[in-house]
Amino acid sequence: MEDVREEIALACRGLAAHGCGGGIGGHVSVRPLGADTYFINAFDRTFGEMTPDDVLEVDAQGRVLSGGRMVSLGVDFHSGIYGLRSDVNAIVHTHGAWITAQTAFNRPPKMWHNLCTFFWGDCVMSPDDSFESIAPALGHASTVLIPWHGAITVGASVGRAAALHDTLEFTARLDVTLASTDASPLPDELVPGIRELVERATYLEETWQLLRREGRRSQSLDAREPAGAA
Ligand SMILES: [Zn+2]
Repeated sequence: MEDVREEIALACRGLAAHGCGGGIGGHVSVRPLGADTYFINAFDRTFGEMTPDDVLEVDAQGRVLSGGRMVSLGVDFHSGIYGLRSDVNAIVHTHGAWITAQTAFNRPPKMWHNLCTFFWGDCVMSPDDSFESIAPALGHASTVLIPWHGAITVGASVGRAAALHDTLEFTARLDVTLASTDASPLPDELVPGIRELVERATYLEETWQLLRREGRRSQSLDAREPAGAA
């Protein structure tokens, strides 16, 4: 499962490079196709520090299968979502600063740009941040916002969930910046066509490749850091 560990580490590092995950907290998990277990990052590293060795295998209930390291208590909502959504094989949760600011509105983001339409009708609110609430609140959506906390995106692949998360941070930034101004969001009647267009334009697929490049770049910078450097 080295490829799964590598992909999770790259997702964490790529998201860190884009402003999601500067401190401790946040998680990326992947459930390999057909597996009863899944993989998630350890709690004791930031996204920017993550390596494949920091990715732990857990059982369906989120219990770490080996070693002495721990995962976030938030692993419970990963187990909850995997239990309810057979179509989901990857979950991303962060406290990206813009995402977190946007969740204080306690509503989904408005449509300020073409890329915001990925969340049109596909982003729901959790009533609170209890782990029991989050998976049922997500329902069939791709994104759930946890008020005054952060966000969760899901997908059939880690690339989809991570790229969606990166796009959500951009969307939240626009919403926080523009919501209290005279700016007008996209007219409702234009949104469905734009959503169809951005999906067809393979934006998320290219964003995942960008995140992977960013993740590899930060890894190679680490490799140049002399051991024991202060
Ligand atoms: Zn959290």
